[in-house]
Amino acid sequence: MSMNVRNNLEKIREELPAGVKLVAVSKTVPAPEVMPAYEAGQRLFGENKAQELIAKQPLLPDDIQWHFIGHLQTNKVKYIAPFVSMIESVDSLKLLDEINKQGERFGRIINCLLQFHIASEETKFGLSLQEGLQLLASPRLSRMDNIKLCGVMGMATFTDDEEKVRAEFRTLKGYFVSLRNQFFANDDDFREISMGMTGDYRIAVEEGSTLVRIGTAIFGERT
Ligand SMILES: *Cc1c(COP(=O)(O)O)cnc(C)c1O
Repeated sequence: MSMNVRNNLEKIREELPAGVKLVAVSKTVPAPEVMPAYEAGQRLFGENKAQELIAKQPLLPDDIQWHFIGHLQTNKVKYIAPFVSMIESVDSLKLLDEINKQGERFGRIINCLLQFHIASEETKFGLSLQEGLQLLASPRLSRMDNIKLCGVMGMATFTDDEEKVRAEFRTLKGYFVSLRNQFFANDDDFREISMGMTGDYRIAVEEGSTLVRIGTAIFGERT
């Protein structure tokens, strides 16, 4: 199994163009089974549940950068704020407010992405473009000194229809470009487009992804 993890990682890395970072999604994978990926040089990992991340983080090396990629309740922010490297799934001003507050409390500036809803499935979280624009125009945002907005994140519809997936990624890229032009023209930190998972990362990369989040293709099927 550990051989597979290393081989899987190496195959994916070879495929990714320079400038596209890989988040190894270790959700449901026990800490000892995450280690082979670490030993193969992987340092960027993703988790989608606060509870699981809090339990796993102390069991693994300190130089891992943890990205939080799941729906985050405000009352859970305080548990991950001391160490999380990026929260990719910010979908409200209220959540951003709490991340800022906890960042202040722990003396950190916490990197965040705004998650947009680009899929046709209703179950997927995220902002509409309208909501994103509203959030970014809020005067409250300019007073948040302990968060840094680094870009956008989105999940495409789970489907075999590649053209549909491609169109959704293209939509997210379009959101990114217009938000950058409107709100971040002089801010080089706003540069990430997190899109692409095991089933669709090749399309995402073709459409301009800078961060792919891959679990199954590295660690195998989740049980
Ligand atoms: C689980 C998950 C992934 C990885 O999915 P795979 O299909 O296993 O690569 C990526 N992003 C998010 C938000 C996830 O929850």
